[in-house]
Amino acid sequence: MSVLVTGGTGYIGSHTCVDFIEKGKEVIILDNLSNSKEEVVGFIEQITGIRPKFYNIDLLDREGVKRVFDENDIDTVIHFAGLKAVGESVAKPIEYYHNNITGTLNLIFEMRDHDCFKLVFSSSATVYGKPETVPIKEDFPLSTTNPYGTTKLYIERILTDLCVADDRFSVVLLRYFNPIGAHDSALIGDNPNGIPNNLMPYVTRVAKGTLPHLNVFGNDYDTCDGTGVRDFIHVLDLAAGHYAALKALEKSGVSIYNLGTGNGYSVLQLIDAFERVNNIKIPYQITDRRPGDIAECYADASKAERELGWKAVHTLDEMCASAWKFESSIK
Ligand code: NAD
Ligand code: UDP
Repeated sequence: MSVLVTGGTGYIGSHTCVDFIEKGKEVIILDNLSNSKEEVVGFIEQITGIRPKFYNIDLLDREGVKRVFDENDIDTVIHFAGLKAVGESVAKPIEYYHNNITGTLNLIFEMRDHDCFKLVFSSSATVYGKPETVPIKEDFPLSTTNPYGTTKLYIERILTDLCVADDRFSVVLLRYFNPIGAHDSALIGDNPNGIPNNLMPYVTRVAKGTLPHLNVFGNDYDTCDGTGVRDFIHVLDLAAGHYAALKALEKSGVSIYNLGTGNGYSVLQLIDAFERVNNIKIPYQITDRRPGDIAECYADASKAERELGWKAVHTLDEMCASAWKFESSIK
């Protein structure tokens, strides 16, 4: 039996493929390469010694998705594939709804047609909207502030309704906080196209000299130093969280887990750690707040620890060191 990883050549997907292969799982990747490169398949092979089967297929191509299920014996799907840029989703909402939601519907139709009922879905802390308090627990109210977040929330609802209607399905919704860092080999990591939206890839490009300075979006929040506070989690811990989540697929229905460290660090604290660990100065300027941002966002991750036996173990220093090692190795 194999595990299908949609979006498996992407940032989080590639680290998860490595983790699963190292733990003895047979992995098949489906990705349309809209935000990743096929060479990642070779990097996964270099790290693990095993080359996963790769399909360059779009989830919107239902026939193509069907072929992947026809040709393989897949019993579990880890579903990362999706578009994720918040700003772009505001400008192109219907493209985002189509790609993320229609893509997911095609996937679950084909799963059902092929008697495959186990799914882990990449959701996000963005579904908590503007939480009233932190740390955030899984039963907090849900809302969204942009079309990207709405696709995550709608997909969560679709998968929940599916499980109510059909008890053969078991689904785990994993709500990620802020994944950063890279594999120790520096072969795979976060390498977004164009100017990065997220903090760490922006910082690493400033460190490299590709971008002149970092804009820190606001220093007048009600936080320790006025800058935004986030729950940065090492991508290796996040990958391991998916393996741990397989346990929750043993029972039918929906299970929901936050994947975070439970600790919040501010933007300035992250810059400090990056500078200290890598001995590089990051020039920055304080600018206006970014619309839609919240002051503080960090997880109560105790449910995943209690029920899945999973806990993030990597430190912020390790995240900063590995992110820079990866960026500085990119030609
Ligand atoms: P990524 O862009 O690196 O990976 C996503 C992959 O999906 C890419 O390789 C892309 O080519 C592929 N893809 C997109 N649409 C597709 C389609 N229609 N058919 C086939 N492949 C398609 O992103 P990531 O950071 O690895 O994120 C993975 C998942 O986790 C996404 O669903 C994202 O929304 C979610 N997530 C990410 C973060 C984060 O900060 N990185 C936080 C919360 C949730
Ligand atoms: N941020 C910043 N400058 C940047 C990118 C991000 O100051 O160039 C801040 C942002 O305002 C937030 C934190 O860094 O407080 C994390 O932002 P990111 O986009 O990485 O993740 P988010 O939590 O928004 O999903």
